[in-house]
Amino acid sequence: MTPSPSAHLPLGDQRTGRFYGHDILSVSQFSRDDLEYIFGVAEAMRTMVQHVGTIDLLKGKILANLFYEPSTRTQSSFMAAMQRLGGSVIPISEVRYSSVSKGESLPDTVRTLECYADVIVLRHPELGAAAQAAAAARKPIINAGDGPGEHPTQALLDLFTIVEELGHVDGLTVTMLGDLKFGRTVHSLSRLLSLFDVTLNFVSPAQLTMPEKVTAELSRRAVKYSEHTRLDAVLPQTDVLYVTRVQKERFEDLALYESLKHAFVITPDTLKAAKPKMALMHPLPRVGEIATEVDADPRAAYFRQMEYGLFVRMALLAMVLGKA
Ligand code: ASP
Repeated sequence: MTPSPSAHLPLGDQRTGRFYGHDILSVSQFSRDDLEYIFGVAEAMRTMVQHVGTIDLLKGKILANLFYEPSTRTQSSFMAAMQRLGGSVIPISEVRYSSVSKGESLPDTVRTLECYADVIVLRHPELGAAAQAAAAARKPIINAGDGPGEHPTQALLDLFTIVEELGHVDGLTVTMLGDLKFGRTVHSLSRLLSLFDVTLNFVSPAQLTMPEKVTAELSRRAVKYSEHTRLDAVLPQTDVLYVTRVQKERFEDLALYESLKHAFVITPDTLKAAKPKMALMHPLPRVGEIATEVDADPRAAYFRQMEYGLFVRMALLAMVLGKA
């Protein structure tokens, strides 16, 4: 497909629904109105899953899941989403067993898979890979993470989690903690939150601050944000604490990674200073940033967050395939 937000279909073609035939490449393509629409469909998916489990909405449709980087949640939730909607999946998670290991280019791999599938979910280590794939493809590409770039479907499920857990977004203070430099989920989530009246706190080691590209966008949109190296300064005002893992795979200097990986660890003690009603989120996997003793705290939303992801991804698949 052509880069978002365009698609083969005339824009504004609502006959088969919003996003029909569109790529999902960046959160920048969404308006608040789009988010309401997506979350409405996700709610319907949730009710369906809870009551029936599976329907035939996407019967006959095929998803190619093309993962050049490891994934547990994104990969299996897209697969479950497709199967719960009656469709099927070509899973390519070990690209080393595909022609990629023979040197096939990303555009050629995508052109191959779209001969067999109706939509492609792509995770790739390079920034901009999803846009490159979309430029070569005729079928919709869904960006499931392009290196340190974006992870738009994660940001959508993160926002859906905030709405489900706290009931609203405007007026909230959202604190993002950890590796803000390489963490693509926080890049996408901050951009998405810029559509709302929120206060953002970015807490990280000095070496892992939010990229200038993202903060410049926030400034242009007049988003209230501030940067910190300590959590205690902002925790008491925080409504959403979004913790991230230090992204080992993006470090050239592993000694630096080792020195930073546990710069912040959330324990039951940390949460004593937090609001009684707060959502503690994490895109997962966690590798020590949240102690397991925190899991029983009602504010720990990270396991529910994964489940919300299934409903959001079901909604997205139904929408790009013209069935929602
Ligand atoms: N699973 C998320 C991602 O793919 C977060 C992470 O890996 O730390 O970006």
